[in-house]
Amino acid sequence: MERVIIDTDTAGDDTIALLTALHFFKVEGVTITGGNVAFQQQIENALYTIQVADADFYTPVYKGYEGPLFSYGNKQHVTVEDVHGSDGMGDSFFEKASQRPEEGHAVDFIINKVKEFPGELNLLAIAPLTNIAMAIKKAPEIVGDIKHLYIMGGTNNSLGNITPAAEYNFWVDPEAAKIVLHSGIPMTMVGWDMCTQYSLMDDRDHEEIRELGTSGSDFFINVNRVVKQFNRDVHRLNGTTHPDALLVAIAANESIMTKSTSYFVDVETVGELTRGYSLVDINNRTGNSPNVRVCEAVDREKFKEVLFDVLKAIK
Ligand code: CA
Repeated sequence: MERVIIDTDTAGDDTIALLTALHFFKVEGVTITGGNVAFQQQIENALYTIQVADADFYTPVYKGYEGPLFSYGNKQHVTVEDVHGSDGMGDSFFEKASQRPEEGHAVDFIINKVKEFPGELNLLAIAPLTNIAMAIKKAPEIVGDIKHLYIMGGTNNSLGNITPAAEYNFWVDPEAAKIVLHSGIPMTMVGWDMCTQYSLMDDRDHEEIRELGTSGSDFFINVNRVVKQFNRDVHRLNGTTHPDALLVAIAANESIMTKSTSYFVDVETVGELTRGYSLVDINNRTGNSPNVRVCEAVDREKFKEVLFDVLKAIK
């Protein structure tokens, strides 16, 4: 099994992504970045999800940065309980897991693990990029030793989700995204546009998932309860979106990604209307060298199969 660290702001689809990672990878650890909901709640959600995957699993969970690099004035950190429920778990209010978070900082854990397994470790980034950026700043020598970085974030010349211009993870911490995008780590970006086109699970899919009748499928239905309604009301999407699970599924099985191209990608850090906007230079108008492999199409059925396999396996 390939080794990974998964960096997450655990709420909603992060949980399904975490189950997917635990199914396909040797998860060395889970690191938490400030994002979706209150930081302490995200930690509890990650710990609970590990317990859902297998009560006997022990996967260490490390606390990272609780908010973006620059959070002042109108750039204060914004959580999205309206999307995922007040607990980030579809208002399920699960009991606390018995496992507790580790001592020590997520950034040090990432640095030490990369050094322990040079060239072997993949990073799965499904949250604002604060922790990854700070790991790069603290120990720039790790850049050449990270096998691959998979990022759920940004959009490829498409509508954002938190503002019309920006996808949430890039928008929360665009400075961190900038550090990461220009780090030189081999990386793949799966944007919000891929998620709305290919990861949507509609009412019929939810019915099929319910019929699986496993504790994994029950968990999926519960966690996605609030976001389903939110997507209908706000994004005008009929179903639930699975950006983080899609990202992890692609990392586990790249054949799910049926088209990808390397482009120059950058992120707007100022901008009156466009903070967090990801610039994907598909026609190379800037003349800059490509730095990111961008996912451009997905085999939707294959993704669905992977998702079902994960939920079926959790009895
Ligand atoms: Ca996330």
